Amino acid sequence: MDSMAEDIYFKDRNGRFTRVNRAMANHLGLTDPARAIGRNEMDFLCRDEAEHRCRDDEEIVRRGRTLVDMEEKWHLPGRSERWLSTTKIPLRDSSGAIVGSFGISRDITEKKRFEAELEQKGFYDPLTQLPNRAMFDKRVERLVTRTRHLGPSSPLFAVAWLDLDRFKCINESLGHGAGDELLVRTARRIEACLRPGDVLARVVGDQFTVLLDDLHSESDAVRVAERIQNAMALPLTVGGTEVFTSVSIGIALSSSGYARHDDMLRDAYTALYRAKAAGRARHEVFDADMHRRAVDQLQLETDLRRAIERQEWVVHYQPIVDLQSRSLAGFEALARWRHPGRGLVMPDAFIPTAEETGLIRPLGMWVLHEACRQMRVWHDMCPTQPPLGIAVNLSTRQLAHADLPAQVRHVLDQTGLRPSCLTLEITESALMQSMQAGAAVLQELHEMNVHLDVDDFGTGYSSLAYLQSFPVQTLKVDRSFVSSMHGGAQQSEIVRAIVGLAHNLGMDVIAEGVETPQQLELLRSLNCRRAQGFFFSRPVPAEEAQRLIIDGPPAFWSESAANGSVNAG
Ligand code: C2E
Ligand code: MG
Ligand code: MG
Repeated sequence: MDSMAEDIYFKDRNGRFTRVNRAMANHLGLTDPARAIGRNEMDFLCRDEAEHRCRDDEEIVRRGRTLVDMEEKWHLPGRSERWLSTTKIPLRDSSGAIVGSFGISRDITEKKRFEAELEQKGFYDPLTQLPNRAMFDKRVERLVTRTRHLGPSSPLFAVAWLDLDRFKCINESLGHGAGDELLVRTARRIEACLRPGDVLARVVGDQFTVLLDDLHSESDAVRVAERIQNAMALPLTVGGTEVFTSVSIGIALSSSGYARHDDMLRDAYTALYRAKAAGRARHEVFDADMHRRAVDQLQLETDLRRAIERQEWVVHYQPIVDLQSRSLAGFEALARWRHPGRGLVMPDAFIPTAEETGLIRPLGMWVLHEACRQMRVWHDMCPTQPPLGIAVNLSTRQLAHADLPAQVRHVLDQTGLRPSCLTLEITESALMQSMQAGAAVLQELHEMNVHLDVDDFGTGYSSLAYLQSFPVQTLKVDRSFVSSMHGGAQQSEIVRAIVGLAHNLGMDVIAEGVETPQQLELLRSLNCRRAQGFFFSRPVPAEEAQRLIIDGPPAFWSESAANGSVNAG
C-alpha cells in the first residue's frame, strides 16, 4: 500500500480512519500514517468537502452502495486544490455484514486542468472530442520549454504526426457521413494504443498528432507507431461497409534539441511526408538529413514558381532520324531551366517537383506553345515533304485534366501548326496511372489528328491488352534496352520482340538513346524505322537545330557501322 501513488484508506462504520497509506497521509498533511487513525476528513479538509465525503461514507455503510470513479475536490487549507477520482466500496465481515468502507483515490488534477482549459477556450475538435491543433501546440510548447529549462536531464518526448492513407477515397466513395464516422473510430483506435498521459489531437482533416512524454529511447516512440499501425490494419465498419485503412506516421524526437515547438511539429510533418513518399503505411523518424532535403525541396519549389513567372525556360531540340532515308524526321522538345544561379538545369532535377506542386501544368503549356511556335517558323522557312514533326512530353498531371484537348487545340490555333505535325509523348507509367480519365482525353486528342507516342516503353510493365485500348501510334523503346544491346545478347532480343510486337499491332517504333553505330546497325536490321540519340545529336538549342534543318543531315548520319563513331557533341 505504501508504495502506491494512489491514496488508500480503510474506515470503520463511523467513518473514522482505521488505516491510511503513506500517499494518503501525505495528502492529509501528516508525516506518519498512524496519526490519521481514529480521525476523519472533518479534521483536515475544508468544511464543505469534508462534509460531502462523510455523507458518502454514511451512504456506503448504511446502504451498501459502491461509488466508482467519482470525481471530487480535495482542498487542505493552505495547500493548493487537488482533483481526485475516487472509488469507495463497503467492507464486509465473513457473515456479509458491513463493517466499514474502503476507498482509493487517483490524482486527476492535471487532467482536470487540461479539460477545463479545453472547455474554456474551445480548444477541442467537436467531431472526435479530441484536443485540436491549437491545444496540441500549447502542450508541445510546454514540453519544449521544460526541456530548455532542465537541459539534458529532461525526459525524452516525441511528437508523432499521423495521416490516414486512403481517407479521401473513402470519403468520396461512401460519403461524408461515413468519413466522419471513420475519423471518430480511428480516433478511438489510436487512443487505445496510448498511455493515459499521452495527448492525441486531431489537427486537420484526416490528420492526427500524438504527444508521447517520458520515453526511454527513440524505440519507445517507434513501438507506439507500430502499435497504432497494427491496430489500424484491422478492418473498420463504417456506414455498414467494411473498409481498410492504413496510417502513415512521422516522428520527431525532443533529443534534436528544439528551441521552438513549431520546429518540432514541422519536422514530424516532414518525416510523415517521407513515410508517405516511401509507400504509405510506414513510419519514419525525422533526422537532420531530412531537414536539409526538405529545405532544398522548398527552395526548389520557390525557385520554380519564380521561374514560371519570369519564364526562365528554354526548349532544346533533339533530332529524330528516319533510319531508311537517314534524313531528319523531326525533333523532340525537351525543357531546360535557365536558373539564374545554377546555370542550365536538366529536367530530372525539376520535373518531379513540378509534378508534385502542379507547376507542371503552366510549364508544360509553355513548352507546348514554344515548341509548336518554333516548328511552325521552321515549316515556313524550309518546307519539306513530309513536314517535320515535333514531339512534346506530357506528364500524368496534364493528362488528368479534361481540358487538355481544348488547350492543345488553342495552342495549335494560335501557332498555326498542323495537328498531324504534333506528337504528344506519354510515358508508359503515366498511361498506366491515368486509366479511364486519361483514355477519354487521349481519344479526343486522337480525333483532333494529334499523334500519340508511348514514351520509355518497356519500363512500365503495361499489359498489351491495356495498351491497345489507347489510340497510340508509336512505341518509343526505352534507352535502357537500346544501350544494353550488344550483338546477339538477350537485350537485343527484347528490342526485337518490341519491334515485332509494335508492327503486329500496327504501331511504329522509335529507338531512344542510340549512342553507337553498332546499335544503329542492329536497329536497322530489326526493321526499326526511326531513332534518336547522342549518336546523331544531343538535344540542342533552337539555333543549332535550325542550322541542321537548313544545312541538311551531316554526312556521318549515313555512314555504316564499320567507319562510324559516337558523336559526343
Ligand atoms: P524522355 O522524354 O525520355 O527524353 C529523352 C531523354 O533522354 C532526354 O533527357 C535526352 O537528353 C536523353 N537522351 C536522348 N538520347 C540519349 C542518348 O543517346 N544517351 C543518353 N544517355 N541520353 C539520351 P532529358 O532532356 O534530360 O529529359 C529527361 C526526361 O525529362 C524526359 O525523358 C522527359 O520524360 C522529361 N521531360 C523533359 N522535358 C519535359 C517537358 O517539357 N515536360 C515533361 N512533362 N517532361 C519533360
Ligand atoms: Mg520523351
Ligand atoms: Mg523517353
